[in-house]
Amino acid sequence: MSVRVRFAPSPTGFVHIGSLRTALYNYLFAKNMGGKYILRVEDTDRTRLVDGAIENMLTAMKWAGIEHDEGVTLNENGEIVQKGEYGPYVQSERLDIYQKYIQQLLDSGKAYYCFCTKERLDEVREAQKEAGLTPRYDGHCRDLSKEEVEEKLKAGVPYVIRLKLPENHVIKFTDLVRGETEFNTNDLDDQVLIKTDGFPTYHFAVVVDDYLMKITHVIRGEEWVSSTPKHVYLYEAFGWEAPVFVHLPNILNQEKKKLSKRQGDVAVEDFKKKGYLPEGLVNYVALVGWSPEENQELFTMKELEEAFSLERVSKSGGVFDTEKLNWIDAHYIKDADDEMLTQLAIPFLIDGGFITESDVETRHDFIKGMVSALKEKLSYVQEITDHVGMFFGDTVEVETEEGREFLELEHIPTLLDALIEKIGELDRVDAESGQVVLKSIQKEYKIKGKNLYMGSRIMITGQMHGPDLPKVMEVLGKETCLKRLDYVKNNLIK
Ligand code: GLU
Repeated sequence: MSVRVRFAPSPTGFVHIGSLRTALYNYLFAKNMGGKYILRVEDTDRTRLVDGAIENMLTAMKWAGIEHDEGVTLNENGEIVQKGEYGPYVQSERLDIYQKYIQQLLDSGKAYYCFCTKERLDEVREAQKEAGLTPRYDGHCRDLSKEEVEEKLKAGVPYVIRLKLPENHVIKFTDLVRGETEFNTNDLDDQVLIKTDGFPTYHFAVVVDDYLMKITHVIRGEEWVSSTPKHVYLYEAFGWEAPVFVHLPNILNQEKKKLSKRQGDVAVEDFKKKGYLPEGLVNYVALVGWSPEENQELFTMKELEEAFSLERVSKSGGVFDTEKLNWIDAHYIKDADDEMLTQLAIPFLIDGGFITESDVETRHDFIKGMVSALKEKLSYVQEITDHVGMFFGDTVEVETEEGREFLELEHIPTLLDALIEKIGELDRVDAESGQVVLKSIQKEYKIKGKNLYMGSRIMITGQMHGPDLPKVMEVLGKETCLKRLDYVKNNLIK
């Protein structure tokens, strides 16, 4: 049996980081098992649809590098298309299929028409609540006669179709993460399968589609555990073999509650907008709720595909740890291509007022130089605006008391004059010649270590720490370095 799994989002808005992880685990499991990964759009709740949500979700998946083999996808022109033999992969395009299968259940007495009005259902629910009972459908239409049903249908009375659960029937299923799970139908409701608008409910459509699309493993969020017995019973009612179920624990916030939009960044979009790299986010998210056999933390997608297994998915929710995400993303930024990072950094630099649109072309090398010098300091690209200030202006501001005290050390005037002289002699300052300048000062004046490097850094950038100094000198260029050193000589040194 070859593995087939699916990610089945409802296009209701942004892509939650938990959905990204569900998609990722499905993808990784399929890759690991040599199976197929399918993306199906579940849009049967017509009241919750959001324009552009499918495109947004597909773009996020593509950005993350989680590519599916079958299903709904975007073509080169950004239009929604479908690929694969088991389509359509959009539930609203499968209404005739659901019609056929609901008829089977009606014919076999496993489903029934329910004509109860909303008012009646509300009354029943209220009465149950008052009596301290769990609200559920009271079975009013379960045993209507064939004639009664025909009559109401003919008269055009609105209806839903419900699942007829047998009484006191035990439904069992094994969840790969949570183990054996058991429910009694006495605790379950006669679930609506077809709604008044003729659309199937999620519960009905998901079972029909997973069966017809030959899904072998249903890997989804734990919020669906309580629905699973209804699904399992539907498989039973149809006489179909149920897939293996795997419910993934929630991603939690620091307070151990479900990560929600109110607490800040939860959408893939939010992380993308801050300039996290997809490799970093995917690597981190893989580790929230799954632990590799070896004590390894950095994984490329290929490595994840090889290492992933459902057995090592944890039962309890994983806490979203921004610090760890940052640590992992910083690793990918350090290794990333300078030009690619530059393109990501430009909008932040423009927004921050550091550069203008026209600088993008005319000062490209300067911008790329800053990015290249600063990338070792970044957890995500937006952070560049916290550091980039040192590359602008011809004056130097020493912000810390410690820095100002450093400039009072005895060797500073000698170092300053030597820097002015040696940089002045160069045609052009680059990382190499900058390094040569520092080395020759060390040799000639016996100023070394912290005295040399920190002293020079403070006089050139105003800061005590920062990226590689010769690199910074290259980005600033000869003229700016000299202007700054003159400024220090005239204003900061006694
Ligand atoms: N459409 C459901 C959702 O958006 C999918 C649940 C499932 O995977 O069965 O979460």
